[in-house]
Amino acid sequence: MPNQSYKSDAQRWTAIETRDDRADGIFFSAVKTTGIVCRPSCPGRPLRRNVSFYEDLDSALCQGFRVCKRCKPELL
Ligand SMILES: [Zn+2]
Repeated sequence: MPNQSYKSDAQRWTAIETRDDRADGIFFSAVKTTGIVCRPSCPGRPLRRNVSFYEDLDSALCQGFRVCKRCKPELL
């Protein structure tokens, strides 16, 4: 499987469910209930309805999200 995908929300959610680290850096997942933004392979398990996707970290941070202390998406 080439990994230029992750274009649809369904593909992105699958990456989160499978903790697919190939998706790290391609998109970020922001959890509105916690106010935290993660890399796709984060061990955290958010609910689908609480997750939105960002193509770059700065966009999520501009929306008021903070970086996750577990997966440290700012280090990508
Ligand atoms: Zn995280």
